[in-house]
Amino acid sequence: MTRSVVTGAAGFVGSHLVERLLALGHDVTAIDCFTDYYERARKERNIAEARTNARLRFVEADLLTTDLGALLADADYVFHLAGQAGVRPSWGKSFQTYIDCNIGVTQRLLEALKGTSIRKLVFASSSSIYGNAKELPVTEATLPQPVSPYGVTKLAAEHLCLLYAQVFGVPVAALRYFTVYGPRQRPDMATQRFLTAAAGGDAIAVYGDGEQTRDFTYIGDIVEAHVLAMAAPADERVFNVCGGAKISLNGLIELIEDVTGRRLRIEREPAARGDARHTLGDHSLATRVLGYQPGTSLRDGIESQWRQVRDTLAAAVAE
Ligand code: NAD
Repeated sequence: MTRSVVTGAAGFVGSHLVERLLALGHDVTAIDCFTDYYERARKERNIAEARTNARLRFVEADLLTTDLGALLADADYVFHLAGQAGVRPSWGKSFQTYIDCNIGVTQRLLEALKGTSIRKLVFASSSSIYGNAKELPVTEATLPQPVSPYGVTKLAAEHLCLLYAQVFGVPVAALRYFTVYGPRQRPDMATQRFLTAAAGGDAIAVYGDGEQTRDFTYIGDIVEAHVLAMAAPADERVFNVCGGAKISLNGLIELIEDVTGRRLRIEREPAARGDARHTLGDHSLATRVLGYQPGTSLRDGIESQWRQVRDTLAAAVAE
């Protein structure tokens, strides 16, 4: 029996990964402390179906303080997705939360994994470590120069993983995700905000001129990258995981209007500090080494996210 641990299991990406691992037949320990970054009820819904599976053990615990030894005992794979996401709120006072949840938690986890017989630690890194790279698309060799405090903490956490791999032999694969979207996306992310606004008719803020571009990655593709990363060779430790195509925010709005058949009411706001102007990844290393191939078009992905947004709203109205 394969035993996997997923941290951040009630979150957007974590909850999808838990379902995939259960479908693969793993015994899964799912850990989350329901931070207040967004509403608990949403996270409870994310993980509700998986919690009915007898092979899932859900543990509500803060990884910053809980005894990790017992939780990680006998684990074959650890997928470390718990973290404090969000670029714009990472300035100022809330930076401490980013230090704790992204750096502090990762260091505790690595200490607990030292000397264990774990087969792989897969870490959720981020394209935000690149910042405003001079040349696009970025490869894993591009110099990381984050433009947000969030990106700095993700880079530090990734480097801790690589350090523990080098010094203590912890087998690590860090996946640098590029803007993940799809059903259950976090409520602060652009696609979710736009689709929710399309459903409810509310106005939405768009930061900057809307010509900033993003490389979007569908949730199903991201989840498959984790499954593939379980078999990553020991000497390849960092992978870009992206869709490999770019679209501007204005282009995304047009696509959303087309998919939903509704016109969005846009309120233009000044560009936000911490947002990279463009992101675009080269995933050829993940393709060559892991066999990763993004398979969902942006239109198909947006359609499935739109269905979920409407279903959730309809269920809330019916309650
Ligand atoms: P999310 O906020 O939906 O999920 C993160 C989960 O971690 C939350 O449920 C939260 O309660 C939990 N958590 C945070 N700190 C914890 C702690 N100390 N102990 C226990 N649980 C804790 O975010 P997401 O979008 O699913 O992102 C998952 C991971 O992927 C994060 O590490 C994020 O930095 C990274 N990432 C996400 C994206 C994206 O586009 N969604 C892009 C790049 C990187």
